[in-house]
Amino acid sequence: MQYKNITLPSSKTIALVAHDNKKPDIVRWCETHAEELSKHTLYATGTTGTVINKATGLEINKLISGPLGGDQQVGSLITEGKVNFLIFFWDPFEPMPHDPDVKALLRIAAVWNVPVACNIISADFMVASPLFKQEFERAVPDYEGYMKSRA
Ligand code: PGA
Repeated sequence: MQYKNITLPSSKTIALVAHDNKKPDIVRWCETHAEELSKHTLYATGTTGTVINKATGLEINKLISGPLGGDQQVGSLITEGKVNFLIFFWDPFEPMPHDPDVKALLRIAAVWNVPVACNIISADFMVASPLFKQEFERAVPDYEGYMKSRA
């Protein structure tokens, strides 16, 4: 696959997803970083978005619940370039009925070179990075270039 660079604005679009046992963690993390998060556009799967909004008052674009297709909606937004950060606190101790969707979301985030945090400590490092507050270049798959090279 060929890649091309795109410039991300300093204001990010962040998707927030947490499995049930991890919802207290994502709420705590959002409470800690509420001021910073309020400067960005937020998306979340249904239940995650509801609990975060209730605890913090942050404005969140709520998608469908994860097991009902919300993870796939986040993946689709990543593919369209509309989500450029993923905070996904997945549960390493519980089997999920929508495990294929979880895998698909993690795969599509890797395909599109999207930064992913899987727990509080990685999410803390992410927001503490100077890159978080500024424009930065991200390499993404260059499908058009790939098609041209085949012509
Ligand atoms: P939820 O979905 O926010 O609706 O609980 C999260 C998930 O299980 O992917």
